[in-house]
Amino acid sequence: MNRTFNASALARLDLKDFIPYDAPYYQDVIKLDANENPYGFPPEVLVKIYRAASSLDISRYPDPGAKILRERLADYTGVNPDNIMVGNGSDEIILNLMLAFGSGAKFAVAAPTFSMYGEHARIAGCAKIEVPRSSDFEIDASGLKSAASLPEVKMVIICSPNSPTGNATPLASIENILGDTSKIIVVDEAYNEFGGESCVPLLSRYPNLVILRTFSKAFGLAGLRVGYLLAGRPVINELLKVKQPYNLNVFSQTAASVVMENLPVFRERVARILEEREVLFAELAALPGVEAFSSQANFIMFKTPLPAEKIYRGLLTRGVLIRNVESISLPRCLRVTVGTAEENRAFIKQLGDVLKNCAA
Ligand SMILES: *Cc1c(COP(=O)(O)O)cnc(C)c1O
Repeated sequence: MNRTFNASALARLDLKDFIPYDAPYYQDVIKLDANENPYGFPPEVLVKIYRAASSLDISRYPDPGAKILRERLADYTGVNPDNIMVGNGSDEIILNLMLAFGSGAKFAVAAPTFSMYGEHARIAGCAKIEVPRSSDFEIDASGLKSAASLPEVKMVIICSPNSPTGNATPLASIENILGDTSKIIVVDEAYNEFGGESCVPLLSRYPNLVILRTFSKAFGLAGLRVGYLLAGRPVINELLKVKQPYNLNVFSQTAASVVMENLPVFRERVARILEEREVLFAELAALPGVEAFSSQANFIMFKTPLPAEKIYRGLLTRGVLIRNVESISLPRCLRVTVGTAEENRAFIKQLGDVLKNCAA
């Protein structure tokens, strides 16, 4: 045995106080914390995936270029396959953006927002500049433009619709920034199927625009980890330098392609989620002391008079898991995913109960 071995003494100094990302993993709870599709994957599409999978040769490495999936995505987005790159979830693409453009430099982000940008930036050795959103969570376009003008800033990230606040950024505001800078502007459209304007029409005019999308939300495929990026070829060429060649496995490539061939069932589910979102919003807003923020995504952020941790714990004790977002400078705020009608009613009932019992 080597007694002098000390892994942490060998590890990167800049990650000394970095806490690995962890997400609660509970069974037997009403799971409204991760903005997944609540209806379960459509069985008729699952059968098609299994049928397609049965002829796959899983003893061979996957197609590194994911040609078939990119062609299906081209049909879906109207973007040329050469301007599409797929990833092991859009999380992987965020990391690749940081590795290709951010290492040793900085990125700016309209905050508060999705925490993964900061996590992947840390891993890649890229520093973060937060440009605060206004009190109604609109982006500060001039603040983002001045951040972009700093030589050390290579990239600006705007999430629209934004997690966890739920609001979308108007196309005009994004175009205003795009035209003013030669830095990369990343628009994360993870929730685009639920609302907000897409930046896709701007792609052909702005070579510095990068759009992120995912199969994890509207398409109910979070477990298979599929995301994609839309961008000009020069940006993709840089990303290919850092991308793992076999990042997306054969099964996930196939499943995502089958999903793209069966859009109506997913569109119908999205429509149901949007109806439920309006009902849930009204119910939340009607609870005494609760402020609900209007959302263009499949979740709703809300504020209560109590510490968010108290609400979070109270709900978990009652079998409902949501997200406490207080730590990202949103005091007393939590985020709940729009679930099925039954899940939403159970959540509202338990939240009412927590508010009554913990207020004393
Ligand atoms: C869920 C989510 C993603 C998608 O992540 P995947 O890695 O594709 O599952 C990306 N951005 C935001 C803002 C999200 O909420």
